[in-house]
Amino acid sequence: MTSQEIKTLTGQYIMNTYGRFPVAIDHGEGATLYDPEGRAYIDFTSGIGVCDLGYGNQAWADAIAVQAKKLGHVSNLFYTEPAARLAETLCKRTGMSCVFFANGGGEANEGLIKLARKYSFDKYGKGRATIITLKNSFHGRTITTLKATGQEVFHQYFFPFTEGFRYADANDLASLKAAAGDDVCAVLVELVQGEGGVLPLETEYVQALKALCEERDWLLLADEVQTGVGRTGTLFAFQQYGILPDAASFAKGIAGGLPMSGVMAGEKCRHVLGPGTHATTFGANPVCAAAGLVVQETLTDRFLEEVTVKGSYLRSQIEAMDLPCFGKTRGMGLMIGVEVRAGYDKSEIAAKLIENGLLVLTAGPGMRLLPPLVITKEEMDQGLAIMKKTLG
Ligand SMILES: *Cc1c(COP(=O)(O)O)cnc(C)c1O
Repeated sequence: MTSQEIKTLTGQYIMNTYGRFPVAIDHGEGATLYDPEGRAYIDFTSGIGVCDLGYGNQAWADAIAVQAKKLGHVSNLFYTEPAARLAETLCKRTGMSCVFFANGGGEANEGLIKLARKYSFDKYGKGRATIITLKNSFHGRTITTLKATGQEVFHQYFFPFTEGFRYADANDLASLKAAAGDDVCAVLVELVQGEGGVLPLETEYVQALKALCEERDWLLLADEVQTGVGRTGTLFAFQQYGILPDAASFAKGIAGGLPMSGVMAGEKCRHVLGPGTHATTFGANPVCAAAGLVVQETLTDRFLEEVTVKGSYLRSQIEAMDLPCFGKTRGMGLMIGVEVRAGYDKSEIAAKLIENGLLVLTAGPGMRLLPPLVITKEEMDQGLAIMKKTLG
């Protein structure tokens, strides 16, 4: 099909819930994508932080093919090797104790919320179900995770929302204390707010928050759906903050492009969710888990150090270009935010870059770059050249 045919068919038969750019993608290689007509695009999005190994990765595709031929799905009523091995790897690399596998980020965060509420219910009984989240956060699109999201714009249309969320200012422990009360069981944070605009929390704040949570027996929950799996230059962002949350969610990059997510929990929460309390049919799918194992094998410590180096390179090059529309950059590893100066429109900038062959994202008030973690210097330079030519 041609790009135009795909767009027309999509317009007719797929629910119109996304503001799409006028580009159809057919295939990719490394960090370069191609439309059906063969036009190349340098990818600074990785499918919103998903395709950490880029496109056409041979080991990833082979592992999926082998596992699909062997066993595509069997349900969690039986044991399978790929999920067990992936859970082992995640725990050994983080210090967590156990994993629950799900399918998407919002669903994983629902798992965190259930874990926190049951932990508290088991210990203290009813009336301690409130979770504090941060303003400007994003936690998902289910009815509950919309409400967990600390942005009023998401609390529309779908009433009634789930009760039991209050919001505090990021990097402000006094604001969090003010939102607290006897009814609180947990605090849920993104260590780098993603959709909100790539805003890293301060290390001091996170460490003080961890201490406060321990003091009050609130669970500290990290939403690592976007920051997790190497994106920030460590396997999980919490490893750079020097804390181990009580539980953390992951999703986007975990299986390099197949739908998979999950919750990891520490020793304190190991037995909170027992048989019958939480489940999902597709969770721990062996094909997704086999893909996840290839991601884990690829993300060695050395590879992760490279992620940090690549991120610094991209940021310094962008700042050195001194484009009229861009201000400072921020972020961690290959999760990069670029400030858009007053008088410029982020969506227009994105549209222009995409038209010229560079795929980018927006977030909060600025641009967001999430290139595949395997992106080469050559591909980064190609992307930067497009940026300069388009916006200079
Ligand atoms: C993307 C994202 C989600 C939602 O994930 P889905 O897979 O779209 O449900 C939740 N939290 C954060 C931090 C995210 O970036």
